Amino acid sequence: MKTLWLIAGAVMSAAGGSAWAQSVAECGPDPVASYVVTYLGEDRFGVAVEHAVPSNRWDLAFFPLSDRPEGQAESVRDLSAFDANGQPVEIAYVGEGGWEIDGQGAVRLSYTILADHGEVDWGADGPGKDEVGDHFDDSYVFAGHAFFLLDWAMPRCAVDVQFDLPDAWQVTAPWPVENGVYRIADSWSLGQNLFAMGEDAARTVQVGGLNLTWLMDKRLGAITPQVERVMAILPQHYRDFWGQAPGNAFSVFFMADTMSDGGAFYDSFAMRIAVPLNRADEINWSHTLAHEVMHLWNQLGRAQGRNVPELEWVNEGFTDYLTIKMASQAGILDEAMTEQRLANLIRRFNLARTLSPEVSIAAAGQDKPANWHLIYGGGGLAALFIDAELSRTDPDRFGAVLRDLQANAGDGYTFETFMDRFDGLTDGLASQVYDWLDMRPSNAEIVQRLGRYGIEAATFGMDEAYVRFEACGDARCAPVFLAAR
Ligand SMILES: [Zn+2]
Repeated sequence: MKTLWLIAGAVMSAAGGSAWAQSVAECGPDPVASYVVTYLGEDRFGVAVEHAVPSNRWDLAFFPLSDRPEGQAESVRDLSAFDANGQPVEIAYVGEGGWEIDGQGAVRLSYTILADHGEVDWGADGPGKDEVGDHFDDSYVFAGHAFFLLDWAMPRCAVDVQFDLPDAWQVTAPWPVENGVYRIADSWSLGQNLFAMGEDAARTVQVGGLNLTWLMDKRLGAITPQVERVMAILPQHYRDFWGQAPGNAFSVFFMADTMSDGGAFYDSFAMRIAVPLNRADEINWSHTLAHEVMHLWNQLGRAQGRNVPELEWVNEGFTDYLTIKMASQAGILDEAMTEQRLANLIRRFNLARTLSPEVSIAAAGQDKPANWHLIYGGGGLAALFIDAELSRTDPDRFGAVLRDLQANAGDGYTFETFMDRFDGLTDGLASQVYDWLDMRPSNAEIVQRLGRYGIEAATFGMDEAYVRFEACGDARCAPVFLAAR
């Protein structure tokens, strides 16, 4: 459940954020850059790029490893640059995944990418190959920012990519394509997405107004039915809850690895799943997958494509709670597993007392890795309590409130504008719950409050939490806001 914070940091330092000031209105009909990708054989790809105006700096994402100090840049070979007159110009590697040219800059680059990324253990002291690339079966998968040298200061206007690949090969990507030309919204959408090239055909399903494509390492073939179950059922529930589809296309890439995790990109997502496959691990990765797909809908804590740090508890906590709620309502989680998922929220909030003692829930987003438990546990419990309270009179009320918030997000919320509107829609309930959680109520108080909503809970020490839905006859009955529908 990692997100883009690593590359976001790298990009901010490179571009100084100035590229964000560019508006779509300034874009002409032609792309600001055109890339051509050619397969050269023996795990090598040739890349040629032409810029509409000269550039002086290009970057790849930079995930250094102790035995690979220049990270992704070590896969770049034979880089050459040419000025507007077609004359070669000197281009220098300046470290941290960056290359620069002095003077007038260059309008054309060409280089080779050695597709050795799948042989590197990126997860040992880095983010994992789900954020870099992999080679499985007859396919090569890359994060755009591991493959395309990008000038992050370019105007945020369309970028074209064409592929010159062997006849039997296909491209799997979330980008729109017409007559063999991928017209991508901007360099960010090129860099912050995954794509694949090779002979393996991706599977596609249309559900919830979404065109979902996925490509999977054959070593994971046995989990196809479980993946299909998540992909074919949940997006329709998400769509019903949010009232609309989030976009047109989304691609997911499943890689076999030694541990399970996921990496989120703009319109794509990579999961690495531990082999040999393990039924307990299915509980993990199916939740991660469903959580990542929920991110496509929940944009409440995002502004102009980026997470708002003071709303990370909404980005992650609300997303996680809604994933549990929808999976429970869809019957993908049974009562026992729904109870355990709720217990996890309580446990995380409890662990945060020790791990993030002095931090408010909103401020926790300034350092997401350090405050992970507070963001997920605090945000998840906030969503749960608000939903539970609103559901006493109308089980559809929480959905209606979130739809209103999303419809009126404009260019994105700050903490204050978000809470203002949220309070207006809930008679102040949102702030009341947030403030209460931010004062770190005791376990006894949390248990007591959950009891009002038909959830019996118990904790022991800092790491044990248990949940049982109230008994109804011989069965355990999920409260109305979690019950199957
Ligand atoms: Zn997430």
